[in-house]
Formats: sequence, C-alpha cells, structure tokens
Amino acid sequence: MDENAPLPISWHVARWGDEPFSRGSWSYLRPGGSPADRWTLAEPIDERFVLCGEAVGTDQAAMTHGAHASGVRAAQWCLGVAAPGERIVVVGGGFAGLGAARTLTDAGFDCVLVEARDRLGGRAQTVQLDGPPGTNSAAVGADAGAAWLQQFARNPFADVVRSLGVEPVPTDFHAPLAGSANGHVGAVAEAFEALRLAALAATGDPGARDVSLDVVAASLGLGGDAARSMQHAVDADIVLETGGGMDDTSARWFFAEDGVGNEDHWIPGGYRQVVEHLAAGLHVRLAEPVRMIEWHAAGVALTTDLGVIEADRCIASLPISLLQRGEPVLRPGLPSRHLDALARIGMGVVEKVLMRFEERWWPATPSGYMRWYDSPASWCEWGDLTDGCGAPVVAALIAHDAVARHHHGRSDAEVVSASTDALRRWSAAVRAQRP
Ligand SMILES: Cc1cc2nc3c(=O)[nH]c(=O)nc-3n(C[C@H](O)[C@H](O)[C@H](O)COP(=O)(O)OP(=O)(O)OC[C@H]3O[C@@H](n4cnc5c(N)ncnc54)[C@H](O)[C@@H]3O)c2cc1C
Repeated sequence: MDENAPLPISWHVARWGDEPFSRGSWSYLRPGGSPADRWTLAEPIDERFVLCGEAVGTDQAAMTHGAHASGVRAAQWCLGVAAPGERIVVVGGGFAGLGAARTLTDAGFDCVLVEARDRLGGRAQTVQLDGPPGTNSAAVGADAGAAWLQQFARNPFADVVRSLGVEPVPTDFHAPLAGSANGHVGAVAEAFEALRLAALAATGDPGARDVSLDVVAASLGLGGDAARSMQHAVDADIVLETGGGMDDTSARWFFAEDGVGNEDHWIPGGYRQVVEHLAAGLHVRLAEPVRMIEWHAAGVALTTDLGVIEADRCIASLPISLLQRGEPVLRPGLPSRHLDALARIGMGVVEKVLMRFEERWWPATPSGYMRWYDSPASWCEWGDLTDGCGAPVVAALIAHDAVARHHHGRSDAEVVSASTDALRRWSAAVRAQRP
C-alpha cells in the first residue's frame, strides 16, 4: 500500500441521494419501462401544466444537454398554446428549467423561474476547492454533480463553452487505468460485451418480455475468473452508470438507450460557467421551495414558502424522485397514464467526493479515468481532474449499495478518509500490476 500518500488539503462530499431537492442522481429505466415512458411524462396536462427534466421527454436522458432539450421542448409547447403576454412559471433552475425559462424569456413572455435552493444549476454544481493553507495557491472550481460534456460531437454546450473562451479537455471512458484489490484485473470489457449480447438475445425480439439485468447475468452461469470479471463489469460499467440495482434495471434499455461514456470532455473551471451563461437576464426567485402546484381551467397557482404565485401556465422541471414522493403536492394530480410511466423509471444514486491534494502522487492516466475493482464494490471510479482544474484534484465516485455501505452514516471527514484510502490501495495495486 502507498502508506505515505497524503490526505487531501480540501474536499467536498456530495450527497445527492439525501438532498431534499434532488433525492438521487439521475434516472434509468426499470424492467418493463421504455423510452416511451419518458415521452408520456412530457405530455402536457389540461393545457396548463407540463413536466420536463433529465428523465422526461428526451432521447438524451440522465445528461445535462438532454435535460436542457427537454426544457426547451416544454417551452415550445407553451409557445404554441399561450397567448401573447401570458405569465408562465418555471419550477426548478437546473438545466431543464434554465432551457425552458431562456426560451420563453427570449420569446418575450413574462416568465419567472422559482428555485428552491439558493443557487441555480440543480444537479450541476461547481464548488471551490481551496489551495494549501499559507500559500498563494488559488482555489479551483470542480464539479460535484455533472462534470462531463457527454456525446461531445453533438452536445450543444461544446460550442457554448468554447464561446466562453474555455477549451474542453477530452477524456476516454473506455480506457481507464484499472487496478484490482485481488491482484487480477480480469477480462472486464469482454464480460460486459457478453452481458450485452445475452441481454440482446433475451429481449431483442420485440415480443420478448423485458427482464432485469440480474436475470440475464444469472443466465450466463459464470464461475471462477469469468464470474469475477463479470462482477467488476457490473460494479463499474453498469451500477455506476445507473446508480440503481441490477434487479431494478431494464436489460433491454440499459444497452439500447443512448447513454454516457462517449467522447466525454471536462469543462475547465466547471459547469457553473454554462449555468451562468444560460441564466443571464432571467427573472429568477431563489430559495423559494414550491410546496403545491394547482391548476384549473383559467390558470395555475403555486404555493411556495414565501406566498402564492398566480400564472397562466406552469412548467415543472422537478426530479422524478420528488414526483414519486408526492413533492410538491400536485392538484388535481398527474393522470394515471403519467403515474404509470413514472413508476417504470428509477432514480439512481451516485455520489461524488472531490479531493484536492498538494501534488499528484497517484499514477497519471491519459484517459482521465481510474477504475478500482474490489469486492464488495466501493469507490469504483475516479476521474483525474488535474488537467481540467489546473490543480491535483480527483473525483471519487460511488454508487447504489456501495453508498449505503461506505457513505451513509459517515461524516464528510470519514468519507474522505475512506476514499483516500481506496485511492492509495488502487495506486499501489496499479504500480504492482503494471506489466
Ligand atoms: C454526481 C453526478 C454526476 C453527473 N455527471 C454528469 C455528467 O458528467 N454529464 C452530464 O451530462 N450529466 C451528469 N449528471 C446528470 C445531470 O446532472 C442531470 O441529468 C441534470 O443536471 C438534470 O437537470 P434537471 O434540470 O433535469 O434537474 P435538476 O438539475 O435536478 O434541476 C431541478 C431543479 O429543481 C429544483 N427543485 C426541486 N424541488 C423544488 C421545489 N419544490 N421548488 C422549487 N424548486 C425545486 C432543484 O433545486 C433543482 O435546481 C450527473 C449527476 C450527478 C448527480
């Protein structure tokens, strides 16, 4: 073990799963669900109310540019039905809400965006990590939520970032520097491919019933090294990508839905720059949680912690985990079609720990990705943000049941200590396992 590796000098521990205004990280499709459910949720209700967000009405679910596109689409619906001068309220100031509010404001509507937190960005949040005490080393920005521009070649924010004078830094999800706690990394990519083929064979026929990924994995009947490689693929390539359990993930759509991990690029300085760009000139009310949204033939009324907001229509960019909990209260409520669709979408939990060190003591990797295979899974993946942040920073990722084991019930300092310890063990294993 790399016993002498130092502790970080500053850090941030994200807790998206516990935060009252996210209750999770991003959506995935459950067995029996399909992308059609995302589109059902996007259907306007009674000409007054419409949902949007990363899980709703988008082909790029679970990503910032998909959320934004969903918000723009909801706003375009409003543009089609609203009379000039109407007042439209957008609930939530993440990428979806910002996309909606920007579109409506630019079209000349009286649009107000109401946000529960005291900041915009939602699940995109750039935090500052201080430099070593007593030095002139400045704080650097790092992303505690969304960090990559995914699907870079067709991501509209690539041009936005460049127009702000920032050059995105390429990373390669498919070429991580991998180390294993048991001394043997194994054929992980091959195991993942075997699972993909088995899922296609099991569910590829349109008439075939969708099943969960754990059913497909079990059908392979693997043992020994092959089983271990499959477990690593499951931990790092699937559970970390959904934040949900294998028993709750659609085998058909995990592989078929447009996903992450393609042409990912960091944004030096962080997502905050894109958020500020989108928010410029919008009418925003921060720190005002909406508790109830009521709509009727003549308009909508929103009850917030500060009063009642009357409007003609409402676009709500609420995380589906909140809708599933009945927060805020919706009256007269979602139609059964929407409720059925909502039940077929899951909300995963992936947590991130950002750690700034005095120097980069771990092995560098050109891909920016580091993988750690241990059993049971813990800190499966780190992103090395050093090239993006201009200071030695890693982002440690942990998902689903590993969050319950290693994250819940621990203080931030304990989480950072456990995560640093795993990074030390990864570093030592990689050095030992290098050919
Ligand atoms: C750890 C992590 C890493 C990620 N990595 C990436 C990545 O690298 N690339 C990528 O593209 N995507 C990534 N994502 C996913 C991405 O962050 C989301 O898909 C996207 O930001 C969701 O945007 P949204 O507008 O749909 O929802 P949100 O950003 O959650 O916005 C919803 C807003 O509604 C507000 N709100 C909630 N309840 C109320 C209420 N009652 N009243 C008023 N306001 C309310 C919330 O505060 C929030 O601001 C990541 C997410 C996480 C958590």
